[in-house]
Amino acid sequence: MNLANEPVVAPPRIDVVGLFPELVLQSAAVGVVGRALRRGLLQVEGWQLRDFAEEPHRSVDDRPYGGGPGMVMLVDPLRRCLQAVREADPRPPRVLLMSPQGAPLTQARIRGWARLPRLVLVCGRYEGVDERFVAHCVDEQVSLGDYVLSGGELAAAVIVDALGRVLDGALGDPRSAVQDSFEDGLLDCPHYTRPECHELGVVPEVLRSGDHAAIARWRRQQALGRTWRWRPDLLQRRVLSDEDRRLLEEYRKRHAAAEPPGTD
Ligand code: SAM
Repeated sequence: MNLANEPVVAPPRIDVVGLFPELVLQSAAVGVVGRALRRGLLQVEGWQLRDFAEEPHRSVDDRPYGGGPGMVMLVDPLRRCLQAVREADPRPPRVLLMSPQGAPLTQARIRGWARLPRLVLVCGRYEGVDERFVAHCVDEQVSLGDYVLSGGELAAAVIVDALGRVLDGALGDPRSAVQDSFEDGLLDCPHYTRPECHELGVVPEVLRSGDHAAIARWRRQQALGRTWRWRPDLLQRRVLSDEDRRLLEEYRKRHAAAEPPGTD
């Protein structure tokens, strides 16, 4: 209880498990997420896997059964570490493994995790993690994309960053996150600031008009148009309203008239 006799609610907590958790803590210490940490909106803790390895060598990896190159991360240091992580806070965590084999990271997944009290991000190295740990101790696997990193720490840093900025109170104006790319399944519209006229171009007139309805329409049209040009896959999955279809049609006509075919 605090002075106002309200129950004190612990902030969401992210525990990062791996060989280089400091990488994630360093990236979380700056900018919007660093401010969220300092304000107590989020707690991020790093766990050094070697602290849970057997002495005297503190090994966390061994050769793969079946032969072949590379090393595989041992089950037991990971399990012991995960047990310690669970015991550090009474709230049950969701355990995510960073893996190129996971489902791709999306803004929708970030929003879902941001509603949970606790996450554990497990970062692999070498050839990856013994499959028995994956099968029994991991709730979800997450991939940054179809390429292979040397370790999961950068993926974990990306999750902490993307999640930290959508927490209530993290951004100066919460509306900025709502209009971001992917929030509404579309790319964001273009943005301009001063000066109004520059040798590289002039700010579109509508943005200087003060007509809020026209500005909202222009932004919506740009978001639809950019998504159509650069991420048509996002549009295939959604049903557009009549107004959106009209705005997009207008954009496409203008775009087709402005650029010769094949420039996209
Ligand atoms: N042999 C594994 C495979 O092909 O699936 C790749 C292992 S990778 C060299 C080492 C670690 O980096 C992985 O265990 C994972 O934690 C992390 N990693 C690599 N690529 C990743 C990606 N695209 N997204 C998320 N984590 C990744």
